[in-house]
Amino acid sequence: MKTVDEHLETILTAIEPIDSIELGLLEAEGGVLTEDVTASHPLPSFDNSAMDGYAVRAADVSGATAWHPVTLPVVGEVVAGDTGAYAVIPGTAVRITTGAQLPTGADAVIPVEWTDAGDARAGGRPPGAKVQVRRAADAGHAIRHSGEDLQAGDQVLAAGTVVGPMQIGLLAAAGRGAVRVRPRPRVAVLSTGNELAEPGSPVTMGRIWDSNSFMLTAAARQAGALAHRHGTVPDDAHELMTTIEDELARADVLITSGGVSMGGVHDVVKDALSGLGSVEFSKVAMQPGMPQGFGTVGDDRTPIFTLPGNPVSAYVSFQLFVRPALSALQGTDPQRLRTTLAVLTDPLPSPAGKRSFARAVLNGGAVTPLAGQGSHRLAALARANALIVVPEQVERLEAGEEAEVMCLP
Ligand code: AMP
Ligand code: MG
Repeated sequence: MKTVDEHLETILTAIEPIDSIELGLLEAEGGVLTEDVTASHPLPSFDNSAMDGYAVRAADVSGATAWHPVTLPVVGEVVAGDTGAYAVIPGTAVRITTGAQLPTGADAVIPVEWTDAGDARAGGRPPGAKVQVRRAADAGHAIRHSGEDLQAGDQVLAAGTVVGPMQIGLLAAAGRGAVRVRPRPRVAVLSTGNELAEPGSPVTMGRIWDSNSFMLTAAARQAGALAHRHGTVPDDAHELMTTIEDELARADVLITSGGVSMGGVHDVVKDALSGLGSVEFSKVAMQPGMPQGFGTVGDDRTPIFTLPGNPVSAYVSFQLFVRPALSALQGTDPQRLRTTLAVLTDPLPSPAGKRSFARAVLNGGAVTPLAGQGSHRLAALARANALIVVPEQVERLEAGEEAEVMCLP
């Protein structure tokens, strides 16, 4: 039997990062940059106003107070988006809006609230009028200087950065319409089993509704992948092989569930894969989830995970093995579930020689194992927010003992 760590090691050693591609900003979301992005222009690219008000020379209003306002003629108006040339000659003001280019000659913006135009009369003063300035401003006041966020040539984002909403905002502001990323991996999920029926359709006694392909597709999406549920495939090696070949065209990773128990004649996954690539089927010393398969299939050597059929086993296997592999496919550090230490409220037995992952509820520093640890018990899994990790050599933890706990996402 392999240990959990050995199996993960096998997987991470085999995973090659997917190729990077140039994608539009929104398509790049969730991708990992493979280029250092540098600024082609300063950001902001020109001096502009941080407020609605009046562009002035600070020296012209240096004595202004509420009791002794300084009155200036308003010789023009510049609004955001104006590309014309404006100037503030000594002793005048130009009305300005937030984001508008600072007129030459001006070195401060007086917010409209510091003038008579800021009184109840919305809209301020039309050009041609005068404005009363009631408060002095230092040079530079309410001005956003060219290059204060980034200088031309500065690094906007480094290779390896995950492209999220904030990074997309910055890239757009810096004028980039597309970037090179390793995109979110495309995952195809299928369930095997003659017993499986589509949820929402009737089942006859002896058959069950397929839960794994839904659960694993959702888990892969939650972990950041673009996951596609193929659905169910009967226990027929030929049909499974053609389905896998078909999915290879559009997937960076394949996940199957079921059909990998040790020695069952209906366990067709091994048969199907023997002709397609090199997949190793092993027993991993863990509970739930002992039968595991991993390898590569097809010309592109696409990674494939053949997870056990029991739903809880499949889910735990996904979190332990597939989740880290998904980040490795994007060339980043393997993401593992966060772990913490917590005190058991109840005793917990654990099988000898296997690392067990007991479904549990973590509440502050205390953790309670749930009743119903069977690997088919989805109701108990769905109530859990954590897995208690019991080491291989430990056969029982007592109430009051501290245990390692994995937080479920
Ligand atoms: P297997 O690994 O195919 O022998 O399946 C082990 C157990 O998991 C059996 O009880 C199956 O019925 C059940 N199982 C397999 N696949 C699924 C699935 N997609 N959804 C729910 N249960 C499943
Ligand atoms: Mg089966």
